[in-house]
Parts: sequence; structure tokens; C-alpha cells
Amino acid sequence: MNTSNQTPDQEEFRDHLATVTEEGKRIWIYPKKPSGNFHKYRVIVAVLLLAVLFFVPLIKVNGHPLMLLDILGRKFILFGVAFGPHDFHLFALTIIGFIISIFLFTVVYGRIFCGWICPQTIFMEMVFRKVEYLIEGDANKQKALNNQPWNGEKIFKKTLKQVIFFVLAFLIANALLAWVIGFDSLVELASKPISDVFGRFIAMLIFTGATYFMGAYFREQVCTMICPYGRLQGVMLDPNSIVIHYDYKRGEQRGKIKKNEEQNLGDCVDCHLCVDVCPTGIDIRNGTQLECINCTACIDACNYVMLKVKRPAGLIRYASKNEIETGTRKIFTPKAIGYTVVLFILFSLIAFLLSTRSDFELSIVRTAGLMAQEQPGDKLSNLYDVKIVNKTFNALPATLELRNIEGEIKLVAGDLNTEPQGISEGKVFVIIPKDKIKTLSTPIEIDVKAEGKVIDVIKTSFLGKVAGKKFDIKEKEHREKEKNEKDNYDEEHNEN
Ligand code: SF4
Ligand code: SF4
Repeated sequence: MNTSNQTPDQEEFRDHLATVTEEGKRIWIYPKKPSGNFHKYRVIVAVLLLAVLFFVPLIKVNGHPLMLLDILGRKFILFGVAFGPHDFHLFALTIIGFIISIFLFTVVYGRIFCGWICPQTIFMEMVFRKVEYLIEGDANKQKALNNQPWNGEKIFKKTLKQVIFFVLAFLIANALLAWVIGFDSLVELASKPISDVFGRFIAMLIFTGATYFMGAYFREQVCTMICPYGRLQGVMLDPNSIVIHYDYKRGEQRGKIKKNEEQNLGDCVDCHLCVDVCPTGIDIRNGTQLECINCTACIDACNYVMLKVKRPAGLIRYASKNEIETGTRKIFTPKAIGYTVVLFILFSLIAFLLSTRSDFELSIVRTAGLMAQEQPGDKLSNLYDVKIVNKTFNALPATLELRNIEGEIKLVAGDLNTEPQGISEGKVFVIIPKDKIKTLSTPIEIDVKAEGKVIDVIKTSFLGKVAGKKFDIKEKEHREKEKNEKDNYDEEHNEN
């Protein structure tokens, strides 16, 4: 979507990236140090999010992590509740909900996620860039240092910066890894020989290398070249989306202030500060661009200039294209309402599934195609398949007992001791004295017990033999068919 105020022949800047020359060479960006109200708020948000990243993996609930996102092991713990492969439906719905909410947020609020929450922006602008300013100084000093010959000062500053970058990348990578493999596993990684934890060691190296590469070298290119979300902006934004916008109606005709001279210009004094602070190297005055990560640095810079020249703040601000043109803000467009309704339905469904989710899934079904078998002591038996899914952190040593009829249950195959977050399967004989079986199919109830407590009651049926005559399932069906035909015949003849 073109949200710029430029005519097509002025849109040439859209044909190339601000950070790449026509020959395809990288233009290194030296953004000026940002400051201002928005930057202060962004620092607070960044500190909170970094605290979440580093400290949440240390929190445990009943000996287990509060949060764990073990994608490879397909084990997840969210706020102390374990989820596994059996919760795939919940996982799929949550992912769909997450994607729709990203669309909704982008349609309404543009790239607010990129500027305030995106880990890449936070690591880059609030961690690596801060260290760079601290060691090398502001943009001009950084440029001068890069251009000067390799002397003692340059070697010292560059080496120190890269060493700190690597340490930071290592720390961030380990914090990210702790979310995936758990903090205990991370400690194990540090304390055991590499050969014992080789997979995790390689993962740690990859995470560290990738973080260092992105923070020290690739930087804003991640947002413009790799991030799929950034590249989808064109289809998600519309003229009502709130993005960071230059108010060209107020700002143009731009021009420098000349003392003692009558000027008929807009509010933009063409100081270039909004471009100088931009970490992606663009000029926001050209309109919304793919590279803009909505970092708010240009808002702060322009507000500072407006204050100096005694003009109202907000020449660059959060606004939609339509708002700049018409002066009215419209947030709830039909598109946004549609996304909200879908999102509401989806999250209601997820909330319902979560609230009705049990700690166990138990099933006991009669093994298909088998008839009742004679057992010593004038008894009959049926074979059943048992499956237990244990979603908790505790082992589940299950036992089965008949609840509503005399008899016994004998395990003949498998194991009903289920590991934490595991699945067990077995086969059992339900054995009932013949004199207790009065009908072909007898409803039975089975107590599933763990540590003496009933955790579930399963209802099923027991296939028997009546008056010494054998029945199997086919015979039962045949008899039911005969009975239905007879009933229909009687009905028809009674009507006649
Ligand atoms: S244009 Fe402004 S908001 Fe966008 S990336 Fe540059 S400085 Fe940040
Ligand atoms: S900072 Fe404001 S006044 Fe200066 S060039 Fe940018 S828009 Fe114009």
C-alpha cells in the first residue's frame, strides 16, 4: 500500500533499500543516539521484557518450570500447566489465534509490535546499540572512528565492543535456550562433558552465533530482508492503519528558517534530524515504507526540533494516512471489526477447551471382533483395550476395579503405570461369574484408581451368553434385524 504523499515520479526511493547501494553493497547506518519521551517509555518496556526473558526460566512451580517451550520434544509448560502432543488441537488453535491477532493489530495499529516488543528490535536498539554508544560515542564519533587508521584507540574500542557483543550474545542465547530446554538442562549443559550434552552444546553455539551475527553485523537487514512479518506489511496495512506518519499537510513546503526573511513555509525546517536518528536509514517524510520498524526515534527527534523552533509537537506522530488527510481518526473499520469477531470466537473456544481440559485421558473399549470366552469357575471373560494419557508431572500407577457388578479385572498385556506426561496401553480381561450375566450386553462401570483414589469411572459393556446359548456380535445384529423386520411387519398389518 502506498501511504506516501509523493507523486509516482517522486517514488524512486521505493525502488531500492536505504541501506544498499545500486551495486548491491551494504550502506552501514550510523543512527544518532535517540532520546525523548517515547524513547524513555521504550526503555522501560525493554527492561521489563528483558527481565521476563532472563528471569522467567528460573521460576519453578512444584519443582517444574513456570514456562517451557520445548518444541523439539513437543512438551510445553504454560504458567505451570503441562501440555503435550495430545494437546495438539489447543496448540493449533492458539497458533491460529496468534496469527489473527497479529493481523488485527497490524491492520489497526500498524507495526507497533516491531517498535516496542520485537526481540530483534529490543536486542539491537536497547542492548547492542547502547553498548556501541557507550564505547564509541554518538553517530559522528562512530563514523570518525571507523574512518581513522588502526591505532591503539581504535583497536582497543573495537576489540572491547566485539568482546562485549559476544558475551551479550552468549547470555541472550542461553536465556532463549533456557525457555526451550529448561534452566536445569542448561545447568547440566554447563556442568557435564561436552560429549554427554553434544546436541544441547551445538544448539547453544548456533543460538550464540546467530545472536552475535544479528547484533554485531546484520542488524536492520534482519527487519528488511529476513523478517516475513516486515515483508507482509504491504498487504496488511491500509489507509486507516495507525503508523508513524509525517504530517505533510503541516510540514510542507519544507525549508530551513532564515532569519530576517519573510518565508511562506510549512513546519518542517528540513533539519534532517528525523533521518539521522533512523536505525533503518529512511526518510519518513517520504511516507510509510517497508523499512520503518515504528521505533519512534523520529517522533522524539522532531518533537525536540519543534520545541526549539516554538512550533507544536507532533509533526511526526502515530497517525493513519486518512487521519493526516482528513483530520479524523477511524479505528474500527469493517476489516478490523471482522478480525475482532473471529478472534473473539477463537479465544472463547480456546478458553472453553482449557477450562474443560482434564489431567488424564482414559479409554477402555472392548477389543473388536472377539466373543465372550469361558473361564474356569463358571465365569465369562471379555478382552478390553486400555489407554491412559497422563498430562500431569506425576507418575500414574493406575488400577482398575469393577464398580457395579461382581467380578475381577486381570491385566494380560502392557502396563498401566503411566510416566509423567506419558501414555500407557494395556489389555485386560474383565471376568464375571455367569450367573451375574442376564442379558446379551451388560452395562458395566470400571473404577480407574490411582493411589487408592478413584480418578475416573469408565462406562462400557460386557458381551455375554444367555441361557447357555452362545452369541456373537454378528448373531446379535442378525437377531436385532429380525426383530426390527417383525416389528415393521406387525405395524403395517395393524394399520391395515
Ligand atoms: S522512520 Fe522513524 S519510526 Fe521508522 S524506523 Fe526510522 S526512526 Fe524509526
Ligand atoms: S525532524 Fe522534523 S523538522 Fe526536522 S526534517 Fe524531520 S520532519 Fe522536518
